[in-house]
Formats: sequence, C-alpha cells, structure tokens
Amino acid sequence: MSAAEPRFDTPSAGLDVAAIRRDFPVLEQTINGRPLVYLDNAASSQRPRQVIEAISSYYERDHANVHRGVHTLSQRATDAFEGARDVVRRFVNARATQEIVFVRGTTEAINLVAQSFVRPKVGPGDELLISGLEHHANIVPWKLVSEQTGATLKVIPIDERGEVDFQAFERMIGPRTRILALAHVSNALGTVVPVERFIAVARRHGVPVLLDGAQGVAHDAVDVQALDCDFYCFSGHKMLGPTGIGVLYGRRELLEDMPPWQGGGDMILAVTFEQITYNQLPWKFEAGTPPIAGAIGLAAAIHYLEAIGMKRIAAYEAELLEYATRRLLTVPGLRIVGTAERKAAVISFVLEGVHPHDIGTILDTEGVAIRTGHHCAMPVMDFFRVPATARASMSFYNTFEEIDALVAALERARSILT
Ligand code: PLP
Repeated sequence: MSAAEPRFDTPSAGLDVAAIRRDFPVLEQTINGRPLVYLDNAASSQRPRQVIEAISSYYERDHANVHRGVHTLSQRATDAFEGARDVVRRFVNARATQEIVFVRGTTEAINLVAQSFVRPKVGPGDELLISGLEHHANIVPWKLVSEQTGATLKVIPIDERGEVDFQAFERMIGPRTRILALAHVSNALGTVVPVERFIAVARRHGVPVLLDGAQGVAHDAVDVQALDCDFYCFSGHKMLGPTGIGVLYGRRELLEDMPPWQGGGDMILAVTFEQITYNQLPWKFEAGTPPIAGAIGLAAAIHYLEAIGMKRIAAYEAELLEYATRRLLTVPGLRIVGTAERKAAVISFVLEGVHPHDIGTILDTEGVAIRTGHHCAMPVMDFFRVPATARASMSFYNTFEEIDALVAALERARSILT
C-alpha cells in the first residue's frame, strides 16, 4: 500500500481500529499459522470483551428467572432484562418499550409477523410483496403464508447491478397488496435498498411494511420512526451480541391487534381451562423463559457500538468497501457480483474458472475467513446465473492490511487453481 492509500485510522472516520481490535479476543489468534483475517461478518460478527464480560458477570452474580420472583436475584435479572429492552428501544428510536419484542433472531421475527399479523388477514386474491434479493428468511415465511391462505407471493425484480427495480415496484403494488417485506441491506450482494422511497409509496397505498434489518442495524444508524416502517427485524449475533437473541420492532397499534404467536408462560395474565387473558405488550409475544443473558449481552453490544458511534462506523466501513472493491478488481478474472450504487461493506465475487468453495478452502489455509455458497439467497444466485459466490464481509474492526491479505491470498488461490 502506498503512502497515498487510506489507512485504517484515517481522520475522516476517526476510528482507532488498533485499540478496538484489542477488545476482540478472538481476533488475536492465528489460523493455520497465519493471523486470523475475519471477513465473514455478514454471517455473524465477533464479540468484544465487554459483551462477553456482561454475560459472564450476569451468570456469576445475578442469574434467576425473570418476572416471576420476589427474591433479589430474580429482581436483578428482571431489571437487567427489561433494562436491555429500553437500550434496544433507544438504539432504534422506537417510541416505547412495548414496541420491542425479544425473539430468537431475524428469522423468528419475520415468521412472527407472517403468522400473527398477515396470515389472519389474507386469502385468495390478496398479494404479498417481496423483492428478488431477499434472504430465505424473508422469502420462506411468506411462501408459507401463501400456501396456507391462497394469497399470491409477488416478487419485485432486481437488475444486473443488484438494485430492486423501483418502477416495477410502483406497477406491482396495488389494492390487494397486504404486506411489503423488504431487506434493508442485502446479505448476498451488499445492496443498500433505498427503503425510504419504497415505504413512501407503500404508505400512499396503505400497505404495511416490514424491513429485514439483519444486515442494516450493525452498520449504520437506524431510526424506525424516521424510516416510518411498521416492523423492523434484526439479530443480536450480527451486531456483536450473542446468538439466540433478536428483536422485532413493531408499531404499537399493530402489535396490540395481533394475536399471540406462541402460547405458554409469561405471555398470559390469567389462565383457566375455559378462558385465557393474554399479557400486555411486549410480553404477549414472549412465551416461556426468554433469552435473559442474550438480552443483557445485546445491550452491552449496543453500548459498545454507541460508544464508537454508528455514523463513524458507517463512514469507516464505506472506506473499507471502497478500498476492498478497488483492490479486488486488480485480481485477474475476478468479477464482483452486485454493484449497486449504495452498498454496505459486503463484496460477493466469482473468480473465472474456480469454484467459490475451492477459493474459501485455500483462503482458510492462509488464515482468511470468507463465506462461500448461496448465502441463503438462492434466487439471487439464479438471477446472476452462478451456483455460488465467494463473499468478503467487513466490520469496523477490519483493517486495510487485512484487505491486502485477502487479495494476496486470492492471488495465491488463483495461481494454484487455474
Ligand atoms: N436476513 C438477512 C438479510 C440475513 O443476512 C440473515 C442472516 O444471514 C437473516 C435474515 C437471518 O438471520 P438469523 O439467522 O439471525 O435469523
């Protein structure tokens, strides 16, 4: 890298990445004798010490079941769990904690909305609108509702750059559209969908909007009120938090009207064999013992992200993306799949004459972790007529030197495999 190239501590982003990396114990290891270069953040991010410590400290001192106990530990656990809900509320700027439902992850959040909000309202002739760049988590739940009710699943096409076709969308939305479910950011291509434009049109048609924010929320500031969406879904493990915890944000009036999604303890106020009175929001949707440690870890992750600043994270990741795009295009035979005007720091690519899985395997011998495959977005692969891609996905703890290591490893893979 020449002196003119951006460095990982560029003034524009102002991040001290070297210091940040010291918070992530997992990054300190070698893999196959090389320093780990972790570029699989879209699948799952790593956790800083602060998150790991928040979880272990909870288990060491405060663990008990929530909501049902009068003893001190139960009260501490309840306070921490409900406190975490308020941290999430503030993070996405929801109006009230009643609008924040803890679930297992994005997948569960979308299924909840599909089954509880949409399924009871639709039948033959009604339409469910998604786009061609969705993750399976934002396809299959709608396909299920369509099979269960006779409603039609309609798919807004994407173009060769991996952008959702806005004109086609305007033609497709109509009086029978019952939901618009869109990715905020595509995991397979990195496309940042200009969801505000889509939401404005949906509003004019009175169509409720769900955003799959799995890839959105960790990489830029999200304000659900400014977005004006009805539902926003995300997963803790993609934003430095634990696995097994995720969030459904839902507009309160809509959540109030929705029937419960799973039955069991905690989601009720009173039970007889004749009649059940359901709990208030958000607990109406949280049957059984919730992921207490998960919520506490998620709150710690949010504190960590906020201490750095989402806008600074977005600015730094944009620099990484720009640099990585430029460097990768120097590799002979490499083609980037997904070239949308606005992208998150995700680069899918193919290398002429080499299967992506072979690239992934050779890169691993060099300590470089990327993902290869269909990225749970098979229709996207079909559209681009590739069976799979290799995908490097970056986070704010990645460095420009790691991009250089990726490129060097790709050069070696190419010399071995072609
Ligand atoms: N939506 C998108 C865009 C994703 O990238 C993912 C995970 O990769 C999901 C949904 C599903 O998330 P989870 O497996 O955490 O439920």
